[in-house]
Amino acid sequence: MSAVRDCPKCRLVNPPTAQRCDCGYDFVSRQMEASYLGKQDTNDEITHLETFLCFFLPLFGFCFGLMARQAGRRKAGNKMMIASALVMFVLLLIFGVFVTTRR
Ligand SMILES: [Zn+2]
Repeated sequence: MSAVRDCPKCRLVNPPTAQRCDCGYDFVSRQMEASYLGKQDTNDEITHLETFLCFFLPLFGFCFGLMARQAGRRKAGNKMMIASALVMFVLLLIFGVFVTTRR
């Protein structure tokens, strides 16, 4: 039971403790089952719109702040830049915590 498990379907070498290959072949029942990987990763790509929103929405606020500063509204511009920077900072923190505590 300590030997590696070669998948007869896709020939992927699995660790001895593997119950099921990534392709869905189950070593216990010796049948094709739903892959543990597949389902939740299907259609899990970030869309262009989502990328746009995540990255550029706080950046827009920052740019508006810069524009306001250049238009002579220094205090208003500073506040907008600080608010945007804070949002980005908080989002980064939440993102970091979320990613590191997942799995
Ligand atoms: Zn396989």
